[in-house]
Amino acid sequence: MKKISLIGSTGSIGKQTLDIASAHPEEISVLGLAAGARSLDDLAEQIVEFKPLVVSVPTEDDTVSLKDRLAQRGYNLAKTRIVCGDAGLVEVATVDGLDTLVTGVVGFLGVRPTYEAIKKGTTIALANKETLVAAGSVIMPLAKKHNARIVPVDSEHSAIFQSLSGFTTRDIESIWLTGSGGPFRTWSIDEIKNATRGDALKHPNWSMGQKITIDSATMMNKGLEIIEAHWLFDLPAEKIEVLIHPQSILHSAVQFVDGSVIGQLGVPDMRLPIHYALFHPERVPSGRVPRLDLTEIAKLTFEKPDYEKFRCLKIAKEIACESSTVACVLNAANEVIVEAFLNDAIKFHTIPDHIIRVLERHKATSNPTLDDILEADRWARQEAVSLVGTPVSQ
Ligand code: MG
Repeated sequence: MKKISLIGSTGSIGKQTLDIASAHPEEISVLGLAAGARSLDDLAEQIVEFKPLVVSVPTEDDTVSLKDRLAQRGYNLAKTRIVCGDAGLVEVATVDGLDTLVTGVVGFLGVRPTYEAIKKGTTIALANKETLVAAGSVIMPLAKKHNARIVPVDSEHSAIFQSLSGFTTRDIESIWLTGSGGPFRTWSIDEIKNATRGDALKHPNWSMGQKITIDSATMMNKGLEIIEAHWLFDLPAEKIEVLIHPQSILHSAVQFVDGSVIGQLGVPDMRLPIHYALFHPERVPSGRVPRLDLTEIAKLTFEKPDYEKFRCLKIAKEIACESSTVACVLNAANEVIVEAFLNDAIKFHTIPDHIIRVLERHKATSNPTLDDILEADRWARQEAVSLVGTPVSQ
């Protein structure tokens, strides 16, 4: 029986993780859940189904609302401890007996609980790429020290992780990080200037949360994934190639030093990498993941990325391997600026301009500690808010 905790349980990754857990009741037990205040009804349903030991919500008020909802459902409150805040999130991430922490939260919020879970040697099923983008220089050495395994859930990194099975970083000539190109792949720079929120939220292949869908439209998502791959696989940026692949079937591949290429294919469904990470290192049969029919797809195409059109991708690639606070600032600025776009405060094509402005004002700290990173994150959010003029809840 694998014992898991899940932070971000009512988001897209969280719901799909629990879908897999409900299909494998003999193999997966859910010890802890954490979610935001917006979906307490969903969280209450999850608690009734999985009966976790501990559940965390953002505030004291949320604990009261959640207990009311559970009482209405006739749930025995003695079964589950309801906690809150940053301390609550850490409690869920470090509950006794835990095998795997699934980090399904979006954004910088994932850093602290991941850090604390790693200190206990817990395996991390990492869906929160921002943890490595912002704090890779702290997280990776810590994982090594405490012998904690990090299994990526991001589909591209899962593909590379699976392709590397039996090989080491020394065997890699380059990795091919695939991306669909997002909704604006075929739009011109001028057309993108008139892009609306609705246009940017129309992802061609993947069904995901709003923040990551906008990151896919700017291709910042692929940029953050370059940084994530740098930390996960210990590779310099010149060995990480972005490959545009509109069908999202080849999830990424590794080119080895002998010229051989090994990649992983599958339908674009996040349950596939989640399932893999939950059961790693075993391959467990899945009835939930749809099967790939290549004859039906018939054609797979590939293109080079356009770094002039997708400036966010270029910015991220340029700073990918800096062991400093700069990637943390990139991530924080992006979170605030994307939220401002979602609130209709700025236009889509100005997103990279705002990010560059925050980066230019930053005085980076080399080889940062976790405290340096927390401070850089706070600073960058404040700077970004002063530029786009909208306060952002975190
Ligand atoms: Mg991805």
